[in-house]
Amino acid sequence: MAYRPTITTLKKAGINEKEGLYEFTATLADGTECRMFYNRFPEWKMTNINRLLTKPCPVCRKDFICNCFNAFAGEIDQQIKDRQLIDEVLAN
Ligand SMILES: [Zn+2]
Repeated sequence: MAYRPTITTLKKAGINEKEGLYEFTATLADGTECRMFYNRFPEWKMTNINRLLTKPCPVCRKDFICNCFNAFAGEIDQQIKDRQLIDEVLAN
């Protein structure tokens, strides 16, 4: 079955409010962690995503860098927007 990422928790990792640049890390349901970069101007847009090397990739099983998560950028971004996770994280 195809891999389906599900975000469990989102955390802020870096913020440049003036430039509107935000870095978040997410933990997924299977324990995979990834890092996302957003630019909020003119509207929230994910500019990059990569998997943190804390666990082997759930897709290709490599324990070093791979590009698998690029394919899930849209789905992860959609979850973040549907669940308003950025608003939640920035409010804390
Ligand atoms: Zn991979």
